[in-house]
Amino acid sequence: MTIKVGIPGSLLYYLYYPMWRTFFNELGVQVVTSGKTTKNILDQGTREALADACVPIKLFYGHVMDIKEQVDYLYIPRVVCLNGKTVYCPKFLGLPDMIRYSIENVPPIIDVRMDTRQGRFALVKAYLAIGKILGAPKSLVLRAYVKAVGILYRYNRLLRKGWSPVAAMNFLDNQVGGTDFDGPLKPSLKFAVLGYPYAIYDSFISVNLIDKLMKYGVKVITAENIHPTLLALQKNCNLPKRLFWTLSDRALKAAHYLFNQNKIDGVLHLTAFGCGPDSLLNRLIEMEAKKHSNIPFMTLMIDEQTGDAGMTTRLEAFVDMVRRRKEVH
Ligand code: SF4
Repeated sequence: MTIKVGIPGSLLYYLYYPMWRTFFNELGVQVVTSGKTTKNILDQGTREALADACVPIKLFYGHVMDIKEQVDYLYIPRVVCLNGKTVYCPKFLGLPDMIRYSIENVPPIIDVRMDTRQGRFALVKAYLAIGKILGAPKSLVLRAYVKAVGILYRYNRLLRKGWSPVAAMNFLDNQVGGTDFDGPLKPSLKFAVLGYPYAIYDSFISVNLIDKLMKYGVKVITAENIHPTLLALQKNCNLPKRLFWTLSDRALKAAHYLFNQNKIDGVLHLTAFGCGPDSLLNRLIEMEAKKHSNIPFMTLMIDEQTGDAGMTTRLEAFVDMVRRRKEVH
């Protein structure tokens, strides 16, 4: 019987799902994912998670609840560091334990530690450990890993061409179609949308932020669309040392790069209620925004109660203001 591994459709799903799925499929393992967030998934997550958890973690709980009965294993790696420098937010480090000890009847969790500070071959070893849990021979695991890395490379190239994760995943699946962030209208404005991938690309929790902007004729650019070398050139963003947390560091670097390029008409920062790192990150982005007062900036906070009407009103007002400013100047 084919082994089934569940990958919750949240958190690092938006950055690594094509790689992870390829790896498991190459081992002959069937991947089950929870897909798009729904109200039911969010409600389940809110019920199961600790009350003071951030919204994305609550959402992750909901995605786990959605698939836990259908799979033999859940894949929740303990992702610590993937670039040898910065670490993921502490919630990522404790994620497998949080799920294991707070949700009843969860299947065994594949929770290998991924920390590239432990040596050049740390990731290969982590994937070999996954293969061992699934009983796959070493040679097959190595072949699957190489193929998975190749898919990740192609996925990231599509994102850098300006594609959204959903469009890039569709393209990798079907080799046809695909769209970038351009909407039905020819874009007349260009906005940077900053924030964590699992907030901005989740159409439910972001209340369709990106689709709405495209509908208003706004071209969207996110940190994932920028080449990592350009982000690395931002060094520590005028801080004595870089931010510790990988995704916060990336968002701050993207903010610095995009503000200083001066080729965007507006910047939105989508921040999640209950996020510790964001209390610092949002302040740092605001400080950078103040140095570029010619580029309008707005912070949008999401929580499990965020409603469509409130988000639409704020966005429409912001887009109108930016458009009028642009016409005047
Ligand atoms: S970075 Fe913030 S939003 Fe993301 S998991 Fe950590 S606390 Fe939650």
